Order: sequence, then structure tokens, then C-alpha cells
Amino acid sequence: MDYTKLSLLEVSKKIHDREVTSLEVTNQIIERIKATEKLNALNSYNFDEAINVAKQVDEMLDAGKDLPVLAGVPIVVKDNINVLGTKTTCSSKMLENYVSVYDATVIEKLKSQYAVIVGKANMDEFAMGSSNENSAFGPCLNPIDSTRVPGGSSGGSACSVGAYQCYAALGTDTGGSIREPASFCGVVGLKPTYGRVSRYGVVAFANSLDQVGPLTRTVKDNAVMLSAIAGYDEKETTSANVPVPNYLSEIKNSIKGLKIGIAKEFFALGMDIDVEIAIKNAIEFYKQNGAEIVDVSLKNIDLALSAYYIISSAEASSNLGRFDGIRYGYRAQGYKDLVDLYVKTRTEGFGKEVKRRIMLGNFVLSSGYYDAYYKKAKKVQALLQKDFEEAFKQCDVLLSPTSPSVAFKLGEKSNDHIKMYLSDVYTVPVNIVGSPAISFPCGKDSDGMPIGLQLIGKKFDETTLYTLANYFEEHKGGQNE
Ligand code: GLN
Repeated sequence: MDYTKLSLLEVSKKIHDREVTSLEVTNQIIERIKATEKLNALNSYNFDEAINVAKQVDEMLDAGKDLPVLAGVPIVVKDNINVLGTKTTCSSKMLENYVSVYDATVIEKLKSQYAVIVGKANMDEFAMGSSNENSAFGPCLNPIDSTRVPGGSSGGSACSVGAYQCYAALGTDTGGSIREPASFCGVVGLKPTYGRVSRYGVVAFANSLDQVGPLTRTVKDNAVMLSAIAGYDEKETTSANVPVPNYLSEIKNSIKGLKIGIAKEFFALGMDIDVEIAIKNAIEFYKQNGAEIVDVSLKNIDLALSAYYIISSAEASSNLGRFDGIRYGYRAQGYKDLVDLYVKTRTEGFGKEVKRRIMLGNFVLSSGYYDAYYKKAKKVQALLQKDFEEAFKQCDVLLSPTSPSVAFKLGEKSNDHIKMYLSDVYTVPVNIVGSPAISFPCGKDSDGMPIGLQLIGKKFDETTLYTLANYFEEHKGGQNE
């Protein structure tokens, strides 16, 4: 039997019921990874360690031990999250040979459940990008159509879930990097509320926006993963001390009376016609099944993308300052003096997009421009926060497309970064206000490419997102329909 196509919950049950060993499942996953290697979803493999953990799980289960749901289940981790003893490259030449010296908190949590980590996923360099084309190790391909991008920056994570190389993956999302690739690869991706999941041990892009979250093939699998990784972490100052629900058992079977807000401004941002049709059908579906559709307004939404690129680049320029050839990673050869070492190292170690962000970040923070750009962007952030607060007085969730288009062709937008940035026009505002949001498949375009629907929730209300997404998946169809 082929176990790779099962959901996380299905395979976990089979492993726990001893219908199959974790070793057998892990071996099948390894074979699948090798057979689909040309997708370039993974930067490195962790097969030896994976097999060890799988065997350990089998022994414990055989001995009658009660283990958590993730025990023995193969998963993939984005390559900007530290896993002790594995390379954490951020898909950058700068960190090509960097080996993690500790586990990120999310990894400690997954390991405490005996999850089987099979590999580290390809991504846009330092998580900057929307297509995975900014990887120093070559682009990852879309698992449904390999002439297209998988989205980014968590492209490898989404691709590996969509290509059945694992049952779940961790991604990170600063402006859409979990949700947009989830949408492009036809899988489920959730960006948790800011502070819900610890960022300790995750290489920072923009600290005030970054969150780690799960990508899975079903909504319920996603809920299981979030319960496993969420929670307060004293090692992380922005981590929220809010109890973690059992998200799976909190998913409700009815959506009656839930209020779904539709912001007219979202429809003015410009989405493809197939996307618009799928979104309108989904709205109709929810309405017919007892949800209430309410019109709301997010009047400053068109300012979000500009504010995002100022705030995120400002933070990135500071974060990336540490990659100087002295402390971490790559060091250029043949330098004259210290300054020359910095310059050569950074010139050779960083790719084009990362350099663009560093320059933009330094510019908006420099004296003389700080007030005109950075301060203004923070004001826009405050306006957006108010818009969302007002909207959430009238509804439980907001609904939009995840991205204005389906997965585009490789190379289609790589020379036009403004076009590329627009892929995140619906996702970026969510990071700016700190809300949680989920993307799940809601239809396909005329070429059979998946279309993602985004639901945005009130802070710490991931449960309502899961309820609505699960209802859609169970009654109208998810990835495989
Ligand atoms: N695509 C956006 C960017 O390039 C978002 C990236 C992310 O969420 N990490 O900044």
C-alpha cells in the first residue's frame, strides 16, 4: 500500500494502531522524495536521523507506550529554522555551510512529540520573495505544473506537502510566505496570530512581522500541527502568554451565524477573473450554509503594501547586518582590510533581492528620510490596525483571495519586482496588523491550477478560521477534489 497520499491524521492513526510501522512510512516518504527530486523542494536531507527516530517510535509503540499524535510522522522544516546538527542555509550562499548548534523552540516541541524530520525546505533567500526563484540553490518547482513557481518564500515547504514528500511542513510568514505558496500548490497554510508561536531559533527577516506556521494537505492536519508548535516561550520576548487550545477538538461542525466580512476594497485591488469567480462562489457557499455575509470597509488597504516594504526592509537591513564574514557563514577571500572584507563578503554572499531590501531598509532609516518613510509607514500601520478593529466589530472573519492570481510561470515576474510584490497584496496587511489568517484551496482555474481563499481572524482566534476552512473542505472539497 502507498501510505504517502494519506493525511497526517490518517497515517498517524495507522502508525498508532500498528497497521504500519513508522519506519515503513518513513522509507516510503524517502523514496517519494528521491522520485520527485527534480522539484528541488528540499535543500538537505535528514534521512539517517529520520530513520533513527522512526525506529525509536516503533519500539515505544510496540512496547505499548502512549505517544502523541505526531509521533512517527514525517515532516519537513523550512531552511530558516534551526534544527540541531542540520544545515540552516536560508537558501543563501551566505549560510551555505552553516550547521545549527541548537533547536528552535518549535523544533524542540516537534521533537518532544517524536515527529520525524526528513529534510529542510528550499525557500527564497532569507525569506524574501514570492516565487522561490530567489534561492541561491535554484528555484523550487510547482508540484502540479513544473513550468510554474510554487510561490514563496516557503515554496519548498508548500511543494513538499503538495508533492507528498511529507505530511506537514513548517513555513514562516512575514508578508504572505506561508499562505501564498499554500495557495499556489493547492495546500492549506496558516499564519498564526503574531506572538502565538515562538520565533526563538528562527532566522529573523522582520521581527515585528515574522511568524512560524504549518502547511498541510487538510485543515484538520493543520490544526494538529498548530497545537503542537504554539505556546508561550520565555526565551522569546514577543511570545504571547495565552493558553493553547486543542485546535482540532475545537473545530465545530456548524458555521451557522458566523459573520464573514467582505471588504469592497479587496475587490478593487485587481484579481484575475478565475480567482474572482472562485471567491464569489465560496462566498455564496458560506451564505447558503448559514453564515452571514456582511459588508465592511478597510479603507486604507491600498497603502499596506508600501508600508510593508518599508517596515520589513528596515528591520531586515538591521537583522542582516550580522552577516559580515566575521561571525557567521561565508567569508570572501583576498580582502585588503576589514572594510574590504565586509564589502566583498556581502557582495558575494547575498543575492540581488536581499541586497535590494538592505539598500531600501538603510535608505528609509537614514536621517533625513526616516520621517518621510519609516515614520509614515508606522502611521499607516496604526491606520490599518484601526480599520481592522472596526471591521472586526461587525464580523468574525474577513474573506479574500490569498493571491490575485494562480501560480505563475517560472521567470514570468522575476525581472519585475513590483509585479512580484503585488502577489502579496492580500496577505501583507494581515502581518501588519498581527492577525491570524489561513489559506486553503477553494477551486481551480481553467488550467486546473488551484486557487486559494484567505480567511483572516481576530487575534488568537485561529479556531474560527479552522472551523470555516474545515467546513468548506468537508462539504465542498479540498485539495483532491
Ligand atoms: N513576498 C513577501 C516578501 O518578499 C513576503 C515574504 C515573507 O512572508 N517572508 O517580502
